[in-house]
Amino acid sequence: MSKRVVIIGSGLGGLTCGYILQQSGYDVTILEQGMQIGGCLQCFYRRGAKFETGMHFIGSAEPEQTMGRIMRYFGLDKSVTLSPLDSEGYNVVSLAGNKFLFPNGREAFIERFAEYFPRQKDAIAKYVEIIDGIAESSTLNSLTSANRDIVVDTEYQTQSINAVMDSIFTDTLLKNALVGDLPLYAAEYGKTPFAQHAYIMDFYNNSAFRIVGGSDVIADSLAGSIREMGGEVLASKRVTKVCCDDEKATGVITADEEFYAADYVISTVHPNRLLEMLDTKLIRPAFRSRISAIPQTASCFTLYIKFKEKAMPYMNSNYYGYADETPWNCENYTVENWPKGFLYMHMCGEKSPSYASSGVIISYMKMEDVLRWKDGKIGRRGEEYELFKRAYAERLLDEVEKHHPGLRSSIDCYFTSTPLTYLDYTGTEAGSMYGVAKDVTLGAGGRVPYRTKVPNLLLAGQNVNSHGIMGVIVGTIMVCSELISAEKLYEQINDLSR
Ligand SMILES: Cc1cc2nc3c(=O)[nH]c(=O)nc-3n(C[C@H](O)[C@H](O)[C@H](O)COP(=O)(O)OP(=O)(O)OC[C@H]3O[C@@H](n4cnc5c(N)ncnc54)[C@H](O)[C@@H]3O)c2cc1C
Repeated sequence: MSKRVVIIGSGLGGLTCGYILQQSGYDVTILEQGMQIGGCLQCFYRRGAKFETGMHFIGSAEPEQTMGRIMRYFGLDKSVTLSPLDSEGYNVVSLAGNKFLFPNGREAFIERFAEYFPRQKDAIAKYVEIIDGIAESSTLNSLTSANRDIVVDTEYQTQSINAVMDSIFTDTLLKNALVGDLPLYAAEYGKTPFAQHAYIMDFYNNSAFRIVGGSDVIADSLAGSIREMGGEVLASKRVTKVCCDDEKATGVITADEEFYAADYVISTVHPNRLLEMLDTKLIRPAFRSRISAIPQTASCFTLYIKFKEKAMPYMNSNYYGYADETPWNCENYTVENWPKGFLYMHMCGEKSPSYASSGVIISYMKMEDVLRWKDGKIGRRGEEYELFKRAYAERLLDEVEKHHPGLRSSIDCYFTSTPLTYLDYTGTEAGSMYGVAKDVTLGAGGRVPYRTKVPNLLLAGQNVNSHGIMGVIVGTIMVCSELISAEKLYEQINDLSR
C-alpha cells in the first residue's frame, strides 16, 4: 500500500510537493482552509474584472531556462501561457523622478546602466559578475543535486544588500536604482541578505513574463494533475490539529472534525500557524520561542483597479515609484508621509494585449494600522474600516497619478485589501507578504528548518527556503528529497523537462 502524505495548505508549496510525491507513488491529500485553492496564486473577480493577489510575474521561464524546465516537469508548459514583459525594461524604477529601466540579459543590463552612470561601468560589470557567481553557486542553475558552492553562498547570505552595494559602488543613486525592485522581497536596510537580491536579480534578468489569464491557472493545473494521478486536493478543510503519538505524527484533524491518517505530514502554512496546531512534547518550548521570535516581512495595502474599456494602454513593465531618491525604508512610514513608494502592475488577459482591463498598486502597510478591525468578519468589518481603506486608496492614487497622469480618468472602479486580507486568506503572520524575514543579524537562529523533532512532520512553502515561485519550489525539492532521493528527483526533473 502507498504511504499516505497529508499536506496542509494548497498554495504553490503544497501543490508542488503534492505533485512530486503523488507522481512518485505516495498517496497525497492536500487540505486547504479556504474555499478556493492556491493561496497566493488565487485570483478573484469583481464586477467582471479579474485580479491576481500574490503572483504577478515570473522569471527564467524561456524553455531552456531553469523555470522553463521546471514548468515543463510540472506539466505547466501545456496549461500556462506566458506573455513576455518588455525586454528593454521589464522593471521601471522611478526615484524622485529619475527613471531607470531594467533590460533582460547580462550585457544589455551592463550597457544600459553604464549609459545611466558612465563612470561606473567597471563597477557595474563587477556587480553583475558577483550576481552571476551567486546564481551559479546554487543547485538551481544546473538542476542537479551536486553540492552548492557553500563558500559563495555563505558569504552573501551573511552580508546585507546595502553592505555589499557599498563595497562595490560609491554612487548612491546607482546603488538605490539597482535595488529599486526591493518590494519583490520586502528588503530591509542592514538586514536582508545580498544573496536574496542576487537570486531575484538573476531570475528576472534572464527573462520576465506575466501569466496570461492570471496566476490561478498554475494552481488549477497542478491540482488537476494531482487529481488525475489519484491524489486529493480538498478546499474548505481547515486543519486544526496535527496529532502525534510519543514518537511521530499520526495524522491531522480538520475543523469539521475529520481525521486524516498520515505516514507523513507536510505543513506549508506559516510556522506560527503550525505551532498552534501542535501539542506534543516532541516540540520543545525553546523551538517554539525561537520560531515565534523570527521577524516577518512587511505587509501591504493593495488597490485593485478595474479600468474602463480600452481606456488604459497595457503597461508591459512593472513600475516602482518612490517619492524620494531611495527605495529603502518605505516600510517605516508615518501617517503623514505614507505612501513612500509603490509597485504598479497590469494584469495580462491575453498575450501582449493592447489595453489593460485591470491592474494593482501595492504599498507597504503595517498590521498595527488595521489591527482594531481584526475581529470583524471578512467583508463586514464596518463603515469605519471602509472609510479607512477609501482614504488610503485615494492617497495612493494621488501619488501614482503624479507618475502616470491620466490614471484616475481611466478607472471604472477599484477595490482594496489590507494586511488583514492576507491574514484571512493565507494565514500568514501579521499579513506578511512573504512570510518570515531573512535577516543577516539573526544568523542561523532566523531560519525555519524543514525538518522538525517530529520525524515525519516536514515544513515546506515560502517560510522554509525563500518566497516566490522559485524560492518555494527550491524548498519543495528540498523537502521532497526527504522522501525520495534528491538525485532521483533531479534526474526525474531533468528527464521530464527535456
Ligand atoms: C502581494 C504579493 C505579490 C507577489 N508577487 C509575486 C510575483 O510576482 N512572483 C513571484 O514569484 N512571487 C510573488 N509573490 C510570492 C509568492 O506568491 C509566494 O511566495 C508563494 O505563492 C507562497 O506559496 P506558499 O505555498 O508558501 O504559501 P501560500 O500561498 O500562503 O499558501 C499557504 C496556504 O495554506 C493555507 N492554510 C493556512 N492555514 C491552514 C490550515 N490551518 N489548514 C489548511 N490550510 C491552511 C492558506 O489558506 C494558503 O492557501 C507575491 C506575494 C505577495 C503577497
